[in-house]
Amino acid sequence: MAAPAPAYHLPRRITQLATLALGMAQPWLDWVRIDIGDQTVTYFGTTYPLQMPHALGLIIPFVILVWGIAGLTYVKGRVFCGWACPYGTAVELFDGLRTALWKGTHRRVASWMRRSPAHRIALRLLAVLTILVVPAALALSMAAYLWSPAKILATLRMAWGEGGTVQTALWAWLALNWAVALLGGFFVRFHFCRYVCIYGMGQAMVVSTAEAKTILRPRFLPASTEACGGCQACLKACFVDLDPREKHLQLGFGSGCFNCGECVDICATVQSHKERDPLLSFRSGKAR
Ligand code: SF4
Ligand code: SF4
Repeated sequence: MAAPAPAYHLPRRITQLATLALGMAQPWLDWVRIDIGDQTVTYFGTTYPLQMPHALGLIIPFVILVWGIAGLTYVKGRVFCGWACPYGTAVELFDGLRTALWKGTHRRVASWMRRSPAHRIALRLLAVLTILVVPAALALSMAAYLWSPAKILATLRMAWGEGGTVQTALWAWLALNWAVALLGGFFVRFHFCRYVCIYGMGQAMVVSTAEAKTILRPRFLPASTEACGGCQACLKACFVDLDPREKHLQLGFGSGCFNCGECVDICATVQSHKERDPLLSFRSGKAR
């Protein structure tokens, strides 16, 4: 019997890119942003002084977002990290860039690189272009949350020295983001999510309270890994270096599964070639 086709990869990529695009575009569209210089807050094109009660428009959605993520995590695990976090999305993007430029485990990029020398050259050029453009775009969007987009664009267009301290600060911010992107994307990667990110730690705390109950996570269905017959595809597919077949899969502090579903998808693909059912699936509850 043929197993189902991969189910999680495409919806996850769409969710990641939509979240990232929305987060990056919205300050430029004047939906919600602050101007720390003018001490104002803008909601959908209308600007108010940055004081009560107008500041509630920032505080209330933030509190709802935090509690919403906490509730989602209690039921679905660290799904926010795997499906929506901009840093996680960037780390996965950099996994592809690492594979094109240096060494990495990105399956699709590695397979494109093997196709021909022309594919290799094109992918490397694309990777360099991405490294130049994406961190700068992220840095400018983050700046636009706290500073008027019109002023940012005007400062970028100024000749060097014309914009004084503000111009120096903006270019220093861009340089810092390139450095952080290279360091984070190539070396620190998801270790930041495990050991530094405050939102990651909060989710790990929620997961550790819910873990013994019914939290969703990948489950390995057979009694023993002998059923895999030497296959290690899911281990290679896991971008946070877990073995999804472990009965007590690490979900909390220091080694969190992000419920991305890549291991479940790859197992379905591997087993479909043998016309068998997948050995991994997402399940809730105490049972394997
Ligand atoms: S164990 Fe599976 S679901 Fe969890 S992070 Fe790794 S690939 Fe994603
Ligand atoms: S992908 Fe499936 S068959 Fe391969 S090692 Fe993982 S669980 Fe076993």
